[in-house]
Amino acid sequence: MSFEAVIGLEIHAQLLTATKIFCGCPTAFGAPPNAHACPVCVGLPGALPVLNRHAVDLAVTAAVALGCEVHERSVFARKNYFYPDLPKGYQISQYEQPLATGGGVALPARLRQDSHLRDGFGGQAGEAGYAAGKFVRLTRIHMEEDAGKSLHEGFADSDRKTYLDYNRSGVPLIEIVSEPDLRSAEEAAVFFETLRQILVWLGVNDGNMDEGSLRCDANVSVRPVGAERLGTKTEVKNVNSFRYLEKAIDYEIGRHIDVIEHGGRIVQETRLFDAAQGKTYSMRSKEEAHDYRYFPDPDLPALVVDAGRRNQIQGSLPELPDARRRRFIAEYALPEYDAALLTQARGVADYFEATARQCGNPKAASNWVMGEVLRNMKERAIDIGAVPITPGALAGLIAIVEQGTISSTVAKDVFAKMYDSGRGAADIVAADGLAQISDSSSLAPIVRRVIEAHADVIAEIRAGKDRKFQFLVGQVMKETKGKGDPKIVTDLMKAAIEIP
Ligand SMILES: [Zn+2]
Repeated sequence: MSFEAVIGLEIHAQLLTATKIFCGCPTAFGAPPNAHACPVCVGLPGALPVLNRHAVDLAVTAAVALGCEVHERSVFARKNYFYPDLPKGYQISQYEQPLATGGGVALPARLRQDSHLRDGFGGQAGEAGYAAGKFVRLTRIHMEEDAGKSLHEGFADSDRKTYLDYNRSGVPLIEIVSEPDLRSAEEAAVFFETLRQILVWLGVNDGNMDEGSLRCDANVSVRPVGAERLGTKTEVKNVNSFRYLEKAIDYEIGRHIDVIEHGGRIVQETRLFDAAQGKTYSMRSKEEAHDYRYFPDPDLPALVVDAGRRNQIQGSLPELPDARRRRFIAEYALPEYDAALLTQARGVADYFEATARQCGNPKAASNWVMGEVLRNMKERAIDIGAVPITPGALAGLIAIVEQGTISSTVAKDVFAKMYDSGRGAADIVAADGLAQISDSSSLAPIVRRVIEAHADVIAEIRAGKDRKFQFLVGQVMKETKGKGDPKIVTDLMKAAIEIP
């Protein structure tokens, strides 16, 4: 029997606000434990939550960008469970009346690993089990608060300790729930990558998976190919990398099939992924929604997002990555690959576009951004905003290459000097004497010297070994430290050894 996997994701994304969702505590990451916690954060009696308006704007921004229907009225509910990192005994979330429903994401072609972006996508394009262009539907987007964090220490019963840090408790989140439309681990990873790209692009989330500001739960089941009914699902919790997500889902798919083929039954449960072992293991039996005894939070009025506010947010959305990618192809005649790579991050797309407009040569701008700019960002682990060469300065470098003032080999050195010194390309070329040597009277003596020194090579060329010719040109370029104009050197060389 052959099986088909059915996968849905639940993605938790921290909203990029300065303060928490229901109090004024900072959301900044990395503070000493419990430095950012107040009576609201830990639910002391009498403390009352007040909704953060900016958090709502960011949640609505994500919802309209993802094509969801934003509901005018949504309701905060208490999700009741006991856990030490949740001292109120409930999490404020949304349940029956979420902020938004519907919408979805079309999966793009996947970029290959030669991407220079810091968080560049891995994997290979077009593998089996993943179809570019597929539309993955969203079920809903709702707002909620994050819980605190438990830190465990020690293994023996006698010295086992748990520490509680409430800095995260009350950090604003959106939970994005997909329909079970995904059919392979790779498809799930691409979906997650695409959501991350859009959320970061919108300025809704910082995309920082190491710090937990973006994380993913995967619901996985299998069924015989052709079957309608869904199999029993398991949930893999809190996966915080694309690679682990793929591995965890692949492991679960294999495990489900194995259990079923051996006559067993899948137990509905929550599991965790152990990256070192490459396996998932059982964490607890899966709760059903009714276990949480959801009810509307009496401390919070219904959230009202009227049409005016929603339309205003819709109207101020930036051009989204997919639209911008298509425009780069149409407007600047860029190859598909360039356009996809340049639109991975909004700052990079802006940088490219500013450079292209100022130098008037989009393909040259694309080559520089995809090459030296992204390479430097990756090597130095910095964002585009920290690159010291402005688009105008890069356009200046491109212009003097086009004018023939410097060769493309020298241009790379000039770029490096611009990066380190902050000086302009023309300044560096003038000060360091890097201008290309184009006048024949300076180059001719060097050509002559090279010919005299390589009589044997000349003989070989005359005997028909044409490819040796490039060697001689290379010798002249070496003598000029890369500054000789290769075209003029070639012409002089041809004339000197009398080949047509
Ligand atoms: Zn607080």
